[in-house]
Amino acid sequence: GSYIEENSASPVKLPTIKFTRLFINGEFVDSVSGKTFETIDPRTGEVIARVAEGDKEDVDLAVKAARKAFDDGPWPRMSGAERGRIMMKYADIIDEHIEELAALDAIDAGKLFSWGKAVDIPTVARLIRYYAGAADKIHGEVLKMSRELHGYTLREPIGVAGHIIPWNFPSSMFFMMSAPALAAGCTMIVKPAEQTPLSALFYGHLAKQAGMPDGVINVITGYGPTAGAAIASHMDIDKVCFTGSTEVGRKIMQAAATSNLKQVSLELGGKSPLLIFDDADVDKAADLALLGILYNKGEICVASSRVFVQEGIYDEFVKILKEKAKDWVVGDPFDPRSRLGPQVDKQQFDKILSYIEHGKREGASLLTGGKPVGKKGYFIEPTVFTDVKEEMMIATDEIFGPVMSLMKFKEKSITGNARQFAAAKVEEQRETRYRSSEIPTLSIIVSDSLKFFMRFSRKEEDDVEEKADGRVVAEAAGGVVGPAEAVMFLQMVLGFGLK
Ligand code: ADP
Repeated sequence: GSYIEENSASPVKLPTIKFTRLFINGEFVDSVSGKTFETIDPRTGEVIARVAEGDKEDVDLAVKAARKAFDDGPWPRMSGAERGRIMMKYADIIDEHIEELAALDAIDAGKLFSWGKAVDIPTVARLIRYYAGAADKIHGEVLKMSRELHGYTLREPIGVAGHIIPWNFPSSMFFMMSAPALAAGCTMIVKPAEQTPLSALFYGHLAKQAGMPDGVINVITGYGPTAGAAIASHMDIDKVCFTGSTEVGRKIMQAAATSNLKQVSLELGGKSPLLIFDDADVDKAADLALLGILYNKGEICVASSRVFVQEGIYDEFVKILKEKAKDWVVGDPFDPRSRLGPQVDKQQFDKILSYIEHGKREGASLLTGGKPVGKKGYFIEPTVFTDVKEEMMIATDEIFGPVMSLMKFKEKSITGNARQFAAAKVEEQRETRYRSSEIPTLSIIVSDSLKFFMRFSRKEEDDVEEKADGRVVAEAAGGVVGPAEAVMFLQMVLGFGLK
């Protein structure tokens, strides 16, 4: 990818930072300690704003507010229809602020402004509307029992939920698990990642504007080991939802177990295989492979980071891929010509570059990229390795950056064996530490005879169609992401949702 020189005139007015304090019980307040931390613009490495640094005492206050809003407040007592109505209004208000929200994520996370406008923020509104529609459709069952007994199930909101959010999709990850919890009548404490606190605070403000009662959504900005850990181990939080690294996921589960045995939902890392067979349209497959690994600069759990290409088309594929990688222009996320912005922060930038160095030392060959770009900020070239062995670190570790490992495989027949081969790749992932517990893995097979086959289930037989069976409502009470969202999300990853 070529690089657009910095300071190219941005057509977009940068957003004013309006909210930098904690959002507790419907009000913006300073942290108890008075401490703040810097949030950095990854385009330049410069400070955007100082944000309140929440810690245990602030989490306690937020939990008190959420507890009150749940135990005594109107939210869980309203009819589902009424909660749904407020959520619909929330989605409408978010729609009215698409540009501002996309711009906040662009300066805070380095995400493309145009994709934020086309994908991230509209996804937020769609998620909220989807679950708003589910709010008045939460049903139990009548169980057939003996004559004297009447058995039934009742789906009730769990209570106060803690949501710990990653930095790669600051907006959609805020709502992926919180929207179903809201629909069910839960109240919550949301902790955005320390790298990307800005849009989360804005969502707190917009919730109030939509008429969401005070204390239903509380936003605590701060660090993981302090504010995040306080959420995971809190005695008055009934469920914790976490999306992030496998390593931290383990800590969350442990903290939940050693505190009050709160319920846990985890969505962790991946090293997703993409399999491309001889009968695939090579041109299309190359586009898909690049989109898979370069979308959101590779900062995505379902990035196609391991690409297996069948030997019959391998050479042609490599040639086309190298050519097409040039179209992935690195540059300012506000510049409409850019397709990759900067990595989220210095730490990720350094980590990715060290993986690239490691790949070279291990004997993989660089087909393209491999270097940082620009004089400032955290930009990295789209990078593709060939001659990768499956046991190399670049092929086993989640790099979370624009780095693809390309591998060749031999398989005679496509149907039948394709499923077996994919299953083996998925199985392999399961044996490593790179797996997640809710949407464990994604493998995509590109083949003309199989079309696009996607899987993200732990069970071998399940595929997207079988999963999308409308169990979302049943899961909504716990704030668990429904299959429909996963499908929607994957569609966007594959570019079907992009204009
Ligand atoms: P990454 O390693 O990709 O930065 P993390 O898993 O560290 O992702 O971060 C995801 C979220 O988890 C962030 O909101 C972060 O603050 C939070 N977090 C990090 N460490 C902890 C922890 N020990 N307990 C609770 N939350 C944490």
